[in-house]
Amino acid sequence: MFTNLGDAHSDGFSGVKQKIAEKFSLFDNCTVIVVNGLNAKQIPTKFRKKKLILIGKEKGSAIQIKKTSVESTSTKIELVHASKNYNLEIPFTDTASISNAITCFGVLLATGLEPEKYYSSFKELPSIALRLEIKNGINNCVLINDFYNSDLDSLKIALNYLNQQTRNSSKTVILSDIEQSGQSTKNLYKEISKLLKQYKINSLIGIGKNISANASAFTINKTFFENTNEFVGAINSNQIGINNSTILLKGARSFGFENISQLLQQKSHDTILEINLNKLTENINYYRSLIKPETQLMCMVKATGYGSGSAEIAKTLQHIGVNYLAVAYADEGVELRNAQINLPVMVMSPEEDSLEDIINFNLEPEIYSFRILELFCKQLQKSGNAEAYPVHIKIDTGMHRLGFEEKDFETLASTLLKYPQLKVKSIFSHLAGRDNSELDGFTNEQISVFEKACSVLKTKLGYGFIKHICNSGGITRFKNAHYDMVRLGIGMYGVGVNTEEQTKLQNVGALKTRISQIKNIKAGDTVGYNRNGKVIDDITIAVIPIGYADGFKRELGNGKFAVYINKIACKTIGNICMDMCMVDVTNINCKEGDEVIVFESFGQIHNLSVAMNTIPYEVLTSISGRVKRIYLQE
Ligand SMILES: *Cc1c(COP(=O)(O)O)cnc(C)c1O
Repeated sequence: MFTNLGDAHSDGFSGVKQKIAEKFSLFDNCTVIVVNGLNAKQIPTKFRKKKLILIGKEKGSAIQIKKTSVESTSTKIELVHASKNYNLEIPFTDTASISNAITCFGVLLATGLEPEKYYSSFKELPSIALRLEIKNGINNCVLINDFYNSDLDSLKIALNYLNQQTRNSSKTVILSDIEQSGQSTKNLYKEISKLLKQYKINSLIGIGKNISANASAFTINKTFFENTNEFVGAINSNQIGINNSTILLKGARSFGFENISQLLQQKSHDTILEINLNKLTENINYYRSLIKPETQLMCMVKATGYGSGSAEIAKTLQHIGVNYLAVAYADEGVELRNAQINLPVMVMSPEEDSLEDIINFNLEPEIYSFRILELFCKQLQKSGNAEAYPVHIKIDTGMHRLGFEEKDFETLASTLLKYPQLKVKSIFSHLAGRDNSELDGFTNEQISVFEKACSVLKTKLGYGFIKHICNSGGITRFKNAHYDMVRLGIGMYGVGVNTEEQTKLQNVGALKTRISQIKNIKAGDTVGYNRNGKVIDDITIAVIPIGYADGFKRELGNGKFAVYINKIACKTIGNICMDMCMVDVTNINCKEGDEVIVFESFGQIHNLSVAMNTIPYEVLTSISGRVKRIYLQE
């Protein structure tokens, strides 16, 4: 089945033709190919001899799509094949589902089945959501929710994800019966047992009659329950407990695993920051397309990953194979090591008291002054470290933050020669004006001072090291200065250097909350502290549980910012309180419990930064730690 030719994965191909050819190489060994959305001329020549069933709107198509009529909750599809009319109806209205259903129709024909016999099945197709959610659980657990579908393939995907995200040494899988697998239950559970072992799962909690009946197939630590209620009862009465474990919740829809998720989830308030890890990956792929394949990628996860979370972001970065991570302080690096991140980690502000940790946790310090150089060497000696320790030399080329200045270069080189216990892993500097074209002259001066530092050190040290100077904006605007590595920060979180780049990036974080209470306020009354929210005409307000202690700054009060409720902008009214604020919802169709969007797009982050009189960097890093982070991976 060739399901669809989309826009995705077009990078690196000379054009559509080459992309089609590459996709078709999947079908080398196929005898019959059902192709949706391509015409005969687009099929690569060598495949034209095979049996092709082309689906399309054009007349010549083997299966011609005559008409699709989208109704409120369903779609009617008229198709013609071999002069015969077919009328399908499916319970979806989105284009992807319509197109998928038509492809399925093609497969029925290709396999010699009569599509009419399956009309009723088309009407009852269940929707498939492949969305994995990570939440913080009770008892120091991490919860991965995947209770939309249950089959062997999606179990594999989920187990993979579990391994990628495991932060505790122990892994638990809570699994329901797998329905409609098409194989005998005995073989099915044998196979699952093999998978659990292969993914080194420590314990299994099986829920359902079938999985319980096959208990003997499993050799790991195991417990079984007949149904979800029984399990919920056992947790509530403390008959069983799960501690310090990363838990995968995987169940068929009919088992209602939402109830288990509710139970095992850490309770916190309605305000959440949702982080989409797929979009993070897509952004990184965009930046990868700007650098040469041999250029290394260091990703900045300082300040808790620009507010997005450090361990979760780092896990994803490790999984997609970036070369380096960087944090501001040693503590952040220790946290990554405790989360089983084994990528090299650069620490940009190593403090005297943290040098021991840096060595113990195999972190790599930025050396920015002679003082820190001496201190670090002393610590190395104390720790009895024998091998040359990797360090990163920071050059101040004009930013005038940390780093060695031009006058220091010669002395630096001769000092480093005196300390063979240090190995210079990289030399780097930071650009002050990379996103401002008026400062390009200055940026180029910075680059030339950097070159000078590198050449002095290279000559004296007599060995090679990684050179790097570009941050996100530099990657885009100074392609001649990528050197051996670039340092990607804000860009991967979805904030571009200019409006053109913005269109290529995906927004990663969404700050959301829910309406706590709605009330009608009479003209002449006031809202909030100091009676600042003066009510001129009768209005309706919503109280929402986000305040300045969450990072929703006090300066956003009194109409300076609007949140979105059911897609409509609702201005703040009165002062922002510590944990709450009030917004005007007059004439807006909403009720208590409805979702409130503070931001979910770059445009809204930008508006927020303007209202806060700052930049997106500060918006993202100001969201306080008590706002629960939820991670999505599709
Ligand atoms: C934060 C930081 C970066 C990343 O900057 P972005 O603008 O977020 O890409 C790069 N290098 C250094 C030294 C930094 O401190």
